[in-house]
Amino acid sequence: MKFGEVIGHKQLLDNLRSNVDKGRVSHAQLIVGECGWGTMQVALAYVQYIHCPHRSGGEACGVCPSCVQIAQLAHPDVHFAFPIINPTKTPTSDSFIAEWRECVLRNDAIFDEHQWYDTIEVGNSQGIIPQKEADNIIRKLSFKAFAGENKTVVIWLPERMHTSAANALLKILEEPWDKTLFLLISEHPEELLTTITSRTQTINVGRIGPEELAHYAVTKLGAAPDKAAAAARIADGSVVALRNILAEEESGSTDNFELFTRLMRLSFSNRHLEIFDWAEQLASAGREAQKHFLDYSLGLIRESYMLTAGLENISHLWGAEREFCLKFAPYVGNHNVEAIVAEMERAVRDIGQNGNPKMVFTHLGLALSKLIAQRAR
Ligand SMILES: [Zn+2]
Repeated sequence: MKFGEVIGHKQLLDNLRSNVDKGRVSHAQLIVGECGWGTMQVALAYVQYIHCPHRSGGEACGVCPSCVQIAQLAHPDVHFAFPIINPTKTPTSDSFIAEWRECVLRNDAIFDEHQWYDTIEVGNSQGIIPQKEADNIIRKLSFKAFAGENKTVVIWLPERMHTSAANALLKILEEPWDKTLFLLISEHPEELLTTITSRTQTINVGRIGPEELAHYAVTKLGAAPDKAAAAARIADGSVVALRNILAEEESGSTDNFELFTRLMRLSFSNRHLEIFDWAEQLASAGREAQKHFLDYSLGLIRESYMLTAGLENISHLWGAEREFCLKFAPYVGNHNVEAIVAEMERAVRDIGQNGNPKMVFTHLGLALSKLIAQRAR
């Protein structure tokens, strides 16, 4: 992957590029951020740039054997270590290298831990980097570099290292190996031994900007521009979340318009018992779908309020949504709009903080129902 192919992070990539150009690449670096923000993309572009003998104009050439091998995750001097399942039967990352390549390539190098485990085993597994892996890394580094001079070891999610593996890695980091770069990619650096983090230079990878996410959704995921923009806003900087939102929409697993209108109808007619069913249905959807629903509903509430206020001409609604909101508008006014929005924002916050979705949506349903039933005085 070339720097130009990384989604977002332009400033960070400029810094990394300039470190390489000035020969200031520290021997152990810790790339920190959520997987969905593209930490692996940053790492792969960085490694490709370091190893390319023909880099120019701030980019790897992309066509030399080194670049081609790194793009295929098959460079003889670039080693990968990552959590694996069932380490007693299958001792190291090498046993899963085919699945690893497939997973990285299929997902543009952006996927999270669960997606990885789903690739290698069905079920709710928790992976580990066993001590054998550390032995394996030392063995690989004891060979002379095959292609150029440099060797790189990429350790994805070092927080999954078994204690004995972490101690072995610490020993390696304590005595730097000549021309060898260690790149640790971590979501939770606070779970690493402080003796390890203190020996690494931290590279913080932040969220990806919404425009860049939307562009990716349109060009790579085939989303329509308006849907891409909406999903990018909710995805909060993460390509993993972005894909989930678009996939949920595609599969129609949560029909936000149906869910919203049903809640409002139940509220007008005081059918509280059915609100429990409604909450249960929403609680069984994924967390991204729940956030999406809340964001969508806040939008419709705002639009309805504008209709009440006589601001029809600036409303973005059309079709069934517009029809519903025109009928619904009289129920949203100065007397309750602030309280309605506050309840919805509270639900957004609670879901974001991993609140129990069934309780959050039951509370929301009942609270909204009460507020909607209030008449303007
Ligand atoms: Zn090259």
